[in-house]
This record gives sequence, C-alpha cells and structure tokens, in this order.
Amino acid sequence: MTTNALSEDFVLEPATCVARPLQRGQSLRITDLQGKQVADVIAFVLPELTDRLWPSTTIRLNGTVYFTVGHTLYSELSRPLMKIVEDTCGRHDMLAGSCNAEIDKVRYGVDGHRGCVENFVETIAPWGLTRADVPMSFNVFMNCPVGPDGGWSIVEPASRAGDYITLRAEADILVAISNCPQDLNPCNAGELKPLGISITAA
Ligand SMILES: [Zn+2]
Repeated sequence: MTTNALSEDFVLEPATCVARPLQRGQSLRITDLQGKQVADVIAFVLPELTDRLWPSTTIRLNGTVYFTVGHTLYSELSRPLMKIVEDTCGRHDMLAGSCNAEIDKVRYGVDGHRGCVENFVETIAPWGLTRADVPMSFNVFMNCPVGPDGGWSIVEPASRAGDYITLRAEADILVAISNCPQDLNPCNAGELKPLGISITAA
C-alpha cells in the first residue's frame, strides 16, 4: 500500500477560489457548510492542460442534465475526469457555465461585478492558463430547473447545511473550485457563505 500525503481539509472563504492538482484516485469533497452556497468547478487534464472539462460532452455521455452519484464528468476529448461517488444534495447544474463581469453587465446593468470566471483566471494563471482556457463549469449545488416547455431559470439551491458532494479523480487533473460570488440573483440565496474543501489521498 502506498502512502499518499496529498490530503487537505480547509475552508474556502466566500468569493474566493483555489486550484489543486489531483492524482487519479484522489477524492475532492465540497461541503456546503451553511447551506445554499454554490461552488463552480473546472478541471484540466495533466500534464498538458490542453484537454479540459466539457459539460456538453458530459451531458451527451450521461444522457442527463441533472448529475448525481454514478455520473462521470468528461473532457472535451471524452476522457473521464471525475466520477461523483457521494452526493447528499442531488441537485447541481451543468448548463449555466460561470458568472462573469460581462454577463452581469448585460443581465443586471452593473459594471465590474467579479464572477467565478474572474476567480478562475486569477487562480489558474500560475499554470500558464488564461481566460481563453477557462471551460464551462460544473456548478455544485446550483439549482437551475428545466421546465417541461424548456424554460430555464436560476432558483435558490436545494442544499442544506452539511450537504456534500464527493468527486473522485479518474485521471490526473488540475481542478479549480470557485466559491461563487454571485449576489445579484437567487444562485446563492442572497448571501455569500464559506464552503468546506476536503482532498483525500488515493
Ligand atoms: Zn459564480
């Protein structure tokens, strides 16, 4: 048995972002400490970082837009990146992408409202990645119901305090997690809150 020291447990403060390399077999757990707080997640295949999480591939290969235990998140080149192995909430979003200053200007008329994209750009810069590299995200705890007529909206998360999701790395990846700073719509129920992050050895 190999001892793997790569485990971590920390609080991701509101509106902040973190990136970590994960070896295949390591797990990432995101806990909604207080309830109704979204985490945007993106990932890149190591070591080349050119292939990345791709929600449309993920939707096609799983045949659903609602993701929970047993579903796999895929890359643009259809490589399995992460598998959902635990989920106490059961409602997450794979359609919305990340909030960013540009869309908030269009939809809410505000200037320079920092979003998850700006968080990601800053966080992945040390790996030589830029805004053009940021893929659409998997939005943990984000609640965007699709109606029978195709209607789509953002409503408050279904997550309660202590709910968590665990993603197991299916490849060596760089993962980034943004504690979503969106306070202009119901995405985070009007209040930005901390998240718990646990990374466990393979
Ligand atoms: Zn966001």
